[in-house]
Amino acid sequence: MSKVNWNFYTKNGFEPLINVNGTMTGIGASRAVPQAVAATAEIMPHFVNMHELQAKASKVIAAATGAEAGFIAASASAGISMAVAGCITGLNVGHVEQLPQTSEKNKVAVQMGHLCNYGASIEQAVRLTGAEVSIVGQSTQTLDHQLQAALDDHVVAAIYVVSHHVVEYGQMPLKRFCEICHNSNVPVIVDAASEYDLQIFLAQGADIVIYSGHKFLGGPTSGIVAGKRDLIKAAYIQNLGIARGMKIGKESIFGAMAALTAWASRDHAAIRQQEQAALSLWAKACHGFKGIDTNIQADVTHNPLDRLKITVDSAKANASPAAIAHALGQFEPQILVRDHEVELGYIQLDPCNLADGHAEIVASALKQVLQKAAKSQLQEPDTNLMRNAGIQSYLNWNSD
Ligand SMILES: *Cc1c(COP(=O)(O)O)cnc(C)c1O
Repeated sequence: MSKVNWNFYTKNGFEPLINVNGTMTGIGASRAVPQAVAATAEIMPHFVNMHELQAKASKVIAAATGAEAGFIAASASAGISMAVAGCITGLNVGHVEQLPQTSEKNKVAVQMGHLCNYGASIEQAVRLTGAEVSIVGQSTQTLDHQLQAALDDHVVAAIYVVSHHVVEYGQMPLKRFCEICHNSNVPVIVDAASEYDLQIFLAQGADIVIYSGHKFLGGPTSGIVAGKRDLIKAAYIQNLGIARGMKIGKESIFGAMAALTAWASRDHAAIRQQEQAALSLWAKACHGFKGIDTNIQADVTHNPLDRLKITVDSAKANASPAAIAHALGQFEPQILVRDHEVELGYIQLDPCNLADGHAEIVASALKQVLQKAAKSQLQEPDTNLMRNAGIQSYLNWNSD
């Protein structure tokens, strides 16, 4: 675990914050690993042929994922748009230049329960190419016949999302999804932006898989696009068209390559142990407070990552989970917790982005906030304001 440099915040006038939420775009995604920091700095003063750089990235991606080929995009979201666009145009550069105008063969099949929002909607990442989403099944059910029926002659690709953002049950398993799509010659694009396993989705039949470079990998902002050589090339040439506005720089490509390489030699067991120690510390801090229960919660998509779930019985704790999350957010330094399921009666603490000393600060803040709650001193936030806070933060930006 590296040390956090609080001086960075004072020197530059930023509000200090501690992230126990997860890898969130709104606060800069993740703390980059030293190898990625060094690589981005190393390449900055030099010219380099970008095709040569991306061909080297392809080799690094192939080694990490088992794919035939790959390239680095500006983000996972950019990778999704580029992959879809590639499935529409193939290697026809004339068609690349025409997007978002397409022929009628422009539909992308997605299970209804996978139509998520990761800061923007995945449907829009598809529509950006000129394609239309063809919704398969209902929110909590996709059956074989529903996917089979959706795969008509107008479908160019199907997208499968692996994420805590999607509906947790009733969805078709990836392997079956790929079998049915391949029977109709439809390629499968997997959005695995936040998943740790770099090989399993291709192994289960995916034609393209997409990861974020700036989440668990700790790279610079980037997206890793890996898969079948012809589909990857078709996605790559979208740089001549709609992906021009999603341009990635040499520093992010080189940094993402370094992050991928570092991932292979990271001491995952040691990191897991540090994370477990943080969870124990926080559970201890919650101990003895009325109406507060803790337990260790495994990640829903089976990433090797546990979180502390703090369940709040509002009547006994004299505060709602939303009030506790809000109070931690007001702390100095600000402590950002996982609060997107507060209406279910709990908050979660995610240990995957901690620096040295963070865990102790969070434990002490938790104790102070729960003591305040016990004395009925916590204010209940307006939960409608909280739900819409992400949108409001954009609208409020830079106004005085
Ligand atoms: C984070 C995320 C994205 C977006 O990733 P970026 O690299 O930030 O564009 C897309 N899909 C899912 C499921 C995500 O979790």
